[in-house]
Amino acid sequence: MKTIGIIGGGQLGLMIAEQAHVLGVRAVALDPAPDAPAFRVCDDHLVAAYDDAAALEELCRRSDAVTYEFENVPGDILIPLSEKYNIPQGYRPLYDSQDRLREKSNARDHGLQTPRFAAVDDEASLRAAVRELGLPAVLKTRTLGYDGHGQAVLRSESDIERALPLLTVPCILEEFIPFDSEASIVMVADRERVVSFPVGRNIHRDGILDLSIVPAAADPEVLGRLKTQSERFMRDCGYEGILAIEYFLRGREIYFNEMAPRPHNSGHYTIEGCTTNQFRELVRYLTGEPLQEPQLIAPTVMKNILGQDLEAACAVESEGHADTYVHIYGKTESRPKRKMGHITFVGLSGAEYEARWAARFVR
Ligand code: AMP
Repeated sequence: MKTIGIIGGGQLGLMIAEQAHVLGVRAVALDPAPDAPAFRVCDDHLVAAYDDAAALEELCRRSDAVTYEFENVPGDILIPLSEKYNIPQGYRPLYDSQDRLREKSNARDHGLQTPRFAAVDDEASLRAAVRELGLPAVLKTRTLGYDGHGQAVLRSESDIERALPLLTVPCILEEFIPFDSEASIVMVADRERVVSFPVGRNIHRDGILDLSIVPAAADPEVLGRLKTQSERFMRDCGYEGILAIEYFLRGREIYFNEMAPRPHNSGHYTIEGCTTNQFRELVRYLTGEPLQEPQLIAPTVMKNILGQDLEAACAVESEGHADTYVHIYGKTESRPKRKMGHITFVGLSGAEYEARWAARFVR
């Protein structure tokens, strides 16, 4: 029986472990929190910091292949380990995504269109970048930003002053894209092929994913181009394993926003909405099994459950609706804006979700 190791024990680790079990594969996770959600389903676990080199080595020793469920694994630990153990995705896709400046430069160098951007380190370079890119613009920290943390939209000159406190760390200024919609794609690649999951439309609230609606209601030519360019990008970069890319769509234009070499929140719908899912194909990749091409079973909506919606989600679960799949991650502490679970509605369109379900959750 094979064992996969997961650096990180959050909900992504939990769902990787669940799908590993479907394929008869064991899972072991490493996380600093003794009550990490993934530990409940993993066969084995290690409580240790992400930069604890000895613990990470122990995780590798206990695993046939190791993956990560978050982006900020330090390279100085992962690189030496990947020379000694089987960490097939390697450090490269993490390196390319850990810094927004590097991430966007890499995307542009590989033929993807990005919002125009400039590096910003201090007030002078911020003012120069604003002159170059114009307003509105979005200022983001280059590293460690997530779910809208570490960013500010600059709409007028007076916003520049207010954004200065962000500049204690290196930042990037991006052109603001008045997009029609946001979309993402999840792909899994081995040496032979890239399989990709149907493109969903993503709706964010306060910088956090709220809904994924699949299929994305956009021009089929644009969606086809998004898929082709994403698969080519993954190949050209030489990435293997799993990669998610988030885009802005505006008219016929597709702008790269960011990528993540791990299962993605916008891909949770695949568990019940597709014939195979992002977690299962990642496990197939890790264990050297041939990848399966996913098919969408029916239009699907995924609703993220943050702390403020946990009670409503539990009520939906207790009502036992058909084709409605409630996932509660089992985090011990619930907070507003913390991802506590998600609900997948299979056989539902975005409009039907609005009419039948939206009012149940906090607006
Ligand atoms: P990010 O963390 O970069 O994915 O940003 C979080 C959210 O902020 C995105 O999903 C968008 O809704 C919004 N956003 C970020 N960058 C831009 C941009 N350049 N133009 C317009 N909206 C943006």
